[in-house]
Amino acid sequence: MTSQPVPESDPASAQFFAALDEGRLDLLRCRQCGTAHLAALVCDACNGTVFAPEPASGAGTIFSFTRTYIAHHPAFADRLPYCGGIVELAEGPRLFAPLLGDVPFAVGAAVAFEPQRAEGRGIAAFRLATSG
Ligand SMILES: [Zn+2]
Repeated sequence: MTSQPVPESDPASAQFFAALDEGRLDLLRCRQCGTAHLAALVCDACNGTVFAPEPASGAGTIFSFTRTYIAHHPAFADRLPYCGGIVELAEGPRLFAPLLGDVPFAVGAAVAFEPQRAEGRGIAAFRLATSG
């Protein structure tokens, strides 16, 4: 079985991936202007360099998505078709993530964070939010 490729952290994203490894979705909040980031060393809104980690709500909406019918890596061949998309978190930042469930997705649909694991690392994934 081929190993699934997983993201590698760098100094800007270390907090984000460390939280995911523990099953959490964390943000970095700029202490100078309050802008939320997933990964940052310098705030792109104010050039601030001091951030405080905080838990994200886990709520977001689908900004864009795709359904994949061709495995671009052998580790994903047994999952076809699968969906991935850009999720805009309620706090503002966007990330590309797996969209879970064999359901029709739509731009603007509400989704909720659902932690996943692959190759010993935490993965940020999302599933359509249920009402009520
Ligand atoms: Zn800032």
